[in-house]
Amino acid sequence: MRGVHLDVAALTTAPVLCYHRIGGPLELGVTRVGRSVFARQMTALTRAGWRTLSLDEFADARTRHDARRTFLLTFDDGYASLAEHAYPILADLGFTATTFLITDYVGKTNDWDVRYTWNRLDHLTWRQIEQWRARGFQFASHGATHRRLTWLADHDLATELGRARAQLVERLGPDGGTAIAYPFGAVDERVAECARAAGYDLGFAGVKGNGDRLHLSRVPVYTWDVGDVPFGLRNDALGVLGRVVANAANRCAIGTSIMQLAKRKTSPRPESIAGAVSTRA
Ligand SMILES: [Zn+2]
Repeated sequence: MRGVHLDVAALTTAPVLCYHRIGGPLELGVTRVGRSVFARQMTALTRAGWRTLSLDEFADARTRHDARRTFLLTFDDGYASLAEHAYPILADLGFTATTFLITDYVGKTNDWDVRYTWNRLDHLTWRQIEQWRARGFQFASHGATHRRLTWLADHDLATELGRARAQLVERLGPDGGTAIAYPFGAVDERVAECARAAGYDLGFAGVKGNGDRLHLSRVPVYTWDVGDVPFGLRNDALGVLGRVVANAANRCAIGTSIMQLAKRKTSPRPESIAGAVSTRA
């Protein structure tokens, strides 16, 4: 079935939620969710009978039709605060999650991002990743340097996808190279094909997927999504509205991409990513 274009209407894919930062300093952006909101949402979901899936189970759920009240819980960017504010809550509730790492920035600060907070934020270290992996949490690719993949030339695209996967497989073994979440959810046919060629089996996009395994839908949970059940798991009108708004906000991330591109062109190269930059030139 690999690579077959499926009929979207016929899909019974389990929903996929995407969080970014949990707790920690407030920001000007929209991707931080408060620790207490997150704890309340996860507790409400367990009480309502929801169960989280591993990546393997998720891949299976695509062909089963009985995956009721199951979802894939994901985090993008791999901030260190996840180990403090999110994973312990999930472990207590018997939930698991998949975190998509920016592999060149593991153990470093978020110099790749436009500055939405006063201080730089730390990313998880490999040691923390290995510790939480031993407790059943999964880690996957969010690219090597969080570049908007649809804007890259073929060679840079292959490098960004391939280097990230190679680092994950080297550190975590073969299942570290299973999945990628495209930065900003930005993917087109060329990017999906390149991800497939690099060896990824699952690729997560924005709110609108197209049913292909390398172009799957995910609903981001933004700062305003504070109800007990996030919009991405609701079947009512509010859920539909929430997903429309999330899609719009996701599209606004193009502004962030443009600012990052401008920053790359104008600012001196930070030493912390010298290695990353040199292979990009
Ligand atoms: Zn990201």
